[in-house]
Amino acid sequence: MIQALELKAPLSGKALSLDQVPDPVFAGRMMGDGLAIDPASSTLLAPCDGVVSQIARTGHALTLRASNGAEILMHIGIDTVSLQGQGFKPLVAQGDSIRCGQPLIEADFDFIRGKAPSLVTVVVIANSDAFEPAARADGELSAGQSMFMRIVPLGMAAAEPTVARDDQTLQGQALVGHGDGIHARPAAMIQAAAKAFNARVSLRFNGQEANARSVVALMGLGIGKGDQVQVLASGEQAAEALAAVIEALQAHSPSAQAEAAPASAAAPAMLADGKIGGVLAAPGLAIGPVVQFAAAEPWVEEQPGLLADEYRALARALATVRSEIMAQMHAALKRGDKALQAIFDAHLALLDDPELIGAAERSVGQGQSAGVAFRDAARAQRQMLSAMNNPLLAERANDLKDLERRVLLALSGETADKPSVPPQSILIADDLTPSDLATLPADALAGVVLARGGATSHVAILVRARGVPAMVAAGPAVLEIANGREVLLDATACVLDPKPDSASLQAARAQIDERRAMLAKVREAASQPAQTRDGHPVEVAANIANERDAREAVRCGADSVGLLRSEFLFIEREAAPTREEQHAAYQAVLDALQGRSAIMRTIDVGGDKEVPYLTLPHEDNPALGLRGIRSGFARPALLDDQLAALLATRPASKLRILLPMVADVDDLLRVKIRLAELAAELGVSELPQLGVMIEVPSAAMLADQLAEHADFLSIGTNDLTQYTLARDRCNPDLAAGLDHMHPALLRLIAQTTAGAARHGRWVGVCGAMASDLEAAPVLLGLGVTELSVSPGLVPELKARVRALDLEMCRREVQPLLQLTSAAQVRARAREIWPQV
Ligand code: PEP
Ligand code: MG
Repeated sequence: MIQALELKAPLSGKALSLDQVPDPVFAGRMMGDGLAIDPASSTLLAPCDGVVSQIARTGHALTLRASNGAEILMHIGIDTVSLQGQGFKPLVAQGDSIRCGQPLIEADFDFIRGKAPSLVTVVVIANSDAFEPAARADGELSAGQSMFMRIVPLGMAAAEPTVARDDQTLQGQALVGHGDGIHARPAAMIQAAAKAFNARVSLRFNGQEANARSVVALMGLGIGKGDQVQVLASGEQAAEALAAVIEALQAHSPSAQAEAAPASAAAPAMLADGKIGGVLAAPGLAIGPVVQFAAAEPWVEEQPGLLADEYRALARALATVRSEIMAQMHAALKRGDKALQAIFDAHLALLDDPELIGAAERSVGQGQSAGVAFRDAARAQRQMLSAMNNPLLAERANDLKDLERRVLLALSGETADKPSVPPQSILIADDLTPSDLATLPADALAGVVLARGGATSHVAILVRARGVPAMVAAGPAVLEIANGREVLLDATACVLDPKPDSASLQAARAQIDERRAMLAKVREAASQPAQTRDGHPVEVAANIANERDAREAVRCGADSVGLLRSEFLFIEREAAPTREEQHAAYQAVLDALQGRSAIMRTIDVGGDKEVPYLTLPHEDNPALGLRGIRSGFARPALLDDQLAALLATRPASKLRILLPMVADVDDLLRVKIRLAELAAELGVSELPQLGVMIEVPSAAMLADQLAEHADFLSIGTNDLTQYTLARDRCNPDLAAGLDHMHPALLRLIAQTTAGAARHGRWVGVCGAMASDLEAAPVLLGLGVTELSVSPGLVPELKARVRALDLEMCRREVQPLLQLTSAAQVRARAREIWPQV
């Protein structure tokens, strides 16, 4: 049980508060909380029993790990690292067990005085995320005699001294539900649960204990699915924290191995004829010249500068990396790239890891340069993860490597290597980090082969999302293949052929060409309207965010724009765009469409789309809170500005306004009335059509009522699926079961089209279900007449529509509504409408 601890004065002299220390790093508690001494004696004594966990090479600082786990850093003088050891005589070595009062370092203050800015000696709790001072001495102290500081577990200081720590520690047990045990994502969940409360939470497993705020320490416990874990919580909100962490541990998440591409877990193998085997990361066939890629190790300044400068440099580099990752996350969010967004989220959790950052800061305190300190801290954690004999955790070591490189680059001011990759090459590397991959234009790659890595690594997830054939864990032999050599990668079969013969090249080329020809053919016909074989027209529209996308939509043959997500105009800005700015943006889109119509959706923020300056209140359950049109009701001026900007856009006949997250007719009428009022105020006589999104089950059930007042309905299947199946669309662990082909969704879509038909309104789909070629006959059969997808998909979708017979779709779709799962629906749909 973790105990409070009393420290004795390590030196004689006057006690000073940290505020009086002439160094902003210590005064700002960047190294932790504690107390200082203006020394009157010269031998630093151990303030308690413990083990020397670190001693600076230059002998001016030492960390003692007390028996209760507190790390007590003692730093003699200010900026004394620059003395390079002169004036200090260490009397103990790292790893030594020490008794309270034992001499640790002899300091020659006569020599040091005048060479360092101050002799003030600081004693801080280096792991201040776990412990805090409850009582501090003041006045004159006698070394080894006077009480110096009382240390208690974090959150206990207020309760001191009347309540003993043991009485305050709450305990619980959790049965781990995560399919792969505690790897990166579950660890990030547990960290988030622990951080939300003012409490210290730790997990005990297999005789080891880990701070619940440290993802690396959590992963390091090696907890597997079904393991029983003890949870300890103390502090003001111990009870809440305990419950939240137990819930996070017990949450069920599927095994990433099961979720990943069907992987042959075989070890790297040399196959017959010199072919190389590996593990499937992303299926497909590719032929191309090899580009071997090895990212250079960033340069690290080994020589430490002044202590305060090194702390500052480390803090600055961490802040730089944080803002880089945030910017990349925003960009990923903007592109709807959920895979990349989730990966960067995991990197941010690592950047918040108190064990990692604490270890780096401690070693800066002991005289290392910021670069050496961070590199060593990250490597120690990586080694720990790699040694755990768990492929998932070993793959997370790759994320730490990514972070290490980013921080070292930020410290050195260098920029990352941008590999020059000729188009359609096959990139080969020992391993890649997500950042490496983010610097590569995805379409430059024909394929990716890694000597190491695994099917569940973040890089594998990314290549899969980009549709680039990839094989991992292929072993070092792939690194021997010469640059420029033409190779054949059959990622689906997990084979790389470094010396393909002409027959296999020919056969593979024929397959690749066939697919390319099919795509070229459908592109040729893309600008023609699409109608089914039996002559029913279907509008194939594009989902866009701005004018550039609008031009792309035209180029790809879109008949119109089915969804402009206007919130992207608002994201990544300091303040909301003015009416004029908005009008200019909307007008530019309509102009770029050259006579085609556009459906522009009013701002849809909240939930997974955050716009900081709108300062919407914090919500425990944002997906069920102020999002979509409700955020417009909460900020009426914002909605007014947007409606006014839309009303000014011409020609009104080509513009349709769409309202997100409408729940019922009241929501719709509220906006309809306001739109009419604004039009009257602005003297606008021709109003654009007004439609509602069907994203909430209530809206689908009440589609007939909504259709009475709306000009059209557009189904947002992303949200409709999340709300119908009660599965958070942003939670990657729930993604496997989030399938829009679920019979419950099909029934709601059928209800929507039936309700719309009663009032002669049309129904479109602008969620991801419209992009699912397997779902197209189902949607058409259910009565949908417009499908809106990302511009690049328009040609293939039009081709799919042209191959269908609407009457048959109508007939065949009804029995699907009686099936009991999405898997059954998909299987049956494949039988009825096989794709060529
Ligand atoms: C949807 O929910 O399906 C939709 C198109 O809206 P968004 O993805 O922007 O929430
Ligand atoms: Mg939506």
